[in-house]
Amino acid sequence: MATIFTKIIQGEIPCYKIAENDTHIAFLDINPVAEGHSLVVPKKEVDYLFDLSDSHFAETMLFAKKIARAMDETLKPIRTGIILDGREVPHAHIHLVPIYKSTQSVSLGKKNDVSKERMKEIAKIISAGVKL
Ligand code: AMP
Repeated sequence: MATIFTKIIQGEIPCYKIAENDTHIAFLDINPVAEGHSLVVPKKEVDYLFDLSDSHFAETMLFAKKIARAMDETLKPIRTGIILDGREVPHAHIHLVPIYKSTQSVSLGKKNDVSKERMKEIAKIISAGVKL
């Protein structure tokens, strides 16, 4: 069965899309731990990120870098953190989390309530800063 991320990639499920190319997509995490918390997903359905080939893994990291740079420029956090977990959705992905305060914990634990309108707005703001 297709993963939820494959369904997003195929347009069967909506997302707050930031950017995509032929091989990767970035969209907002629906349970953000901070405003702008994003996911970078290779379109190829592979469960474990470290099972990607070297070249595909490198492409994924470079795509993530472009999204992180856009987040840095548009949201102006102190910096953007990165988390690899993948226990919930069996489709390789990278979490990018803007860090706004030095005391902010960069972990997936505590979700922040962000309205749908604000999610749409944030995706658009980050998207405008992406240089693929
Ligand atoms: P993990 O697999 O532990 O890295 O976590 C998967 C992440 O995907 C969680 O932070 C979820 O909030 C997020 N997530 C699950 N479904 C969706 C969706 N439909 N759109 C955006 N994010 C999602």
